Amino acid sequence: MSSSSSSRSVDRPSVGRNDSGRGIPKKCYCGAPPILRNSMGREYPGRRYYTREMVEDGGVHIGKWWDEAMMQEATMLRLELEDETERMRRSKMEKMREKIQTHKEEIEILFELHAQHRML
Ligand SMILES: [Zn+2]
Repeated sequence: MSSSSSSRSVDRPSVGRNDSGRGIPKKCYCGAPPILRNSMGREYPGRRYYTREMVEDGGVHIGKWWDEAMMQEATMLRLELEDETERMRRSKMEKMREKIQTHKEEIEILFELHAQHRML
């Protein structure tokens, strides 16, 4: 009697060929979008994962836990935000420096005028 235990009983997604990128898996090199599935295995029942198995070539193109992908995505976003904040901070500092320079020049002119006025 043949057992059906080999049917979809995924504990962890198989490593996909398309998993080099971080975060949420993008469209596969073959053009197929990743599919979100629930694990049916005993080890992680209900844990979600991205997958893309191609029947044509019998390979797993994408295989990645959803929560791990989300954590990576969040980290990437945080780093991007920190980067952007730093850029904005620097540009703000630069503008302030320019303003201070302008004020300095104006004050110097004022001092000069004042000095000239006193000499008269
Ligand atoms: Zn693919």
